[in-house]
Amino acid sequence: MSTLFIADLHLDDERPAITTLFEQFLASDEARTASAFYILGDLVEAWIGDDDDAELPTRIAIATRRLSDAGVPVYFMAGNRDFLLGDAFAERAGLTLLDDGTVHDIEGVPTLLMHGDVLCTDDVAYQTVRAQVRTPAWKAQILSMPLEARRAFAAKARSDSKSHTGRTDETIMDVNQAAVETAMRSAGVQRLVHGHTHRPAIHTFDLDGRPARRIVLGDWYDQGSVLTIDATDAQLRGFHNAHV
Ligand code: MN
Repeated sequence: MSTLFIADLHLDDERPAITTLFEQFLASDEARTASAFYILGDLVEAWIGDDDDAELPTRIAIATRRLSDAGVPVYFMAGNRDFLLGDAFAERAGLTLLDDGTVHDIEGVPTLLMHGDVLCTDDVAYQTVRAQVRTPAWKAQILSMPLEARRAFAAKARSDSKSHTGRTDETIMDVNQAAVETAMRSAGVQRLVHGHTHRPAIHTFDLDGRPARRIVLGDWYDQGSVLTIDATDAQLRGFHNAHV
């Protein structure tokens, strides 16, 4: 059996082929025979609330619900783009919500699961904004706005994010190795899986005298990207067609 992980799809009406690829991948034999399916954040480019009446959230819910109905547990951990996704959508879409920093046994190995943004501690400006927008009061205030106002707000947040990432040095936006080691040490694990940085790789390093692995998921801007973990191996791959 194998467990599948995806993240950073950034699904958006502007890239309809990627939404179709996501639907095809979730309907594939590979997904439907997995022991579990994990979505580690930034599934969509912007989530404005579970009451969004646009087509995209409905298509996502249908795809994940079908996979979950096929007997595959489908887990969702929020990223910085979709942290307003809540219990109502999770129920409709057959998702089990996970907190950032959850440890799950993955094919026999305790594994720390994160979106990855909290590990980017060198990006102080980003961490300051993150702390502000994750408070219950801020979330409640946004969700109390009319849908159209939230759409406009999301568009602005998106352009602010683009100008920040455009101005900020690449190394500052990657994870901080000390933050990685602290997180893994306090979780008591030798394996971490995260997304966010869009730098797919399997990093091997020494953690307190034992071999450790940090696996970074790839984004879905130009193709699909999946991590497969089975009892003996972990494999990252990109794809353009999901074999249904
Ligand atoms: Mn992210």
